[in-house]
Amino acid sequence: MAIQQLLSGVRHFEGHVYAAQREFFKKLAEGQSPETLFVTCSDSRIDPNLICQTQPGELFILRNAGNIIPAYTPQGGGGEIASIEFAITGLAVKHIIVCGHSHCGAMGGLIEPKQLSEMPAVADWLKHSEATRRILELKYKKMSKSNRLDIAIQENVLTQIENLQTHPSVSAALAMGQLSLHAWTYQIEEGRVYAYDTAVEQFVPLKEADMSEKKTHTRGQEARSAKSKVGNLT
Ligand code: ZN
Repeated sequence: MAIQQLLSGVRHFEGHVYAAQREFFKKLAEGQSPETLFVTCSDSRIDPNLICQTQPGELFILRNAGNIIPAYTPQGGGGEIASIEFAITGLAVKHIIVCGHSHCGAMGGLIEPKQLSEMPAVADWLKHSEATRRILELKYKKMSKSNRLDIAIQENVLTQIENLQTHPSVSAALAMGQLSLHAWTYQIEEGRVYAYDTAVEQFVPLKEADMSEKKTHTRGQEARSAKSKVGNLT
């Protein structure tokens, strides 16, 4: 896409899209109260607002290569830690969704580190997914390359859900029953979202019921078992 196309897009937005919804945008300027923190990959093929059919103001979005959430450290640092803390403490979000996606380049690099020889910063960043790499190495060694990538994408979402729970703000909100966590993957070519189902310990097509309040689990109900160490998610 040429930059010219972006400029004409902005002109269209200003002249038509904004103009047709002026009141909506003025209301937005007064503040935000999204109920969901949506964590996903920077990949250009993923559009959270398109997938969820949400409007500006409805999703607080955190994106990076590989939808990774570094585990909490008292030293702090990093935009991820700050964004999570703000989402929970400042915005009181009720849900955190970690959404991986098919054909994820970051996960490809995690399982084929040779691809990253010219990208030391990416290699460094992927160390936050070391648990995923080890699970792949030990449990899925004999699997074909493409299957390993699919499994890496799923296991990585579960690893990041675990990392999330090391954050004090997340742990406290879970303990209060004010927050639920959701592990999703998005299959680009199918246009379909899958959610991790703790009952069957696998990703299954997302149903509306999966996000209902009844499915809000608290920290005490965590099932720290096998595949998931996760438990409190849909
Ligand atoms: Zn990706």
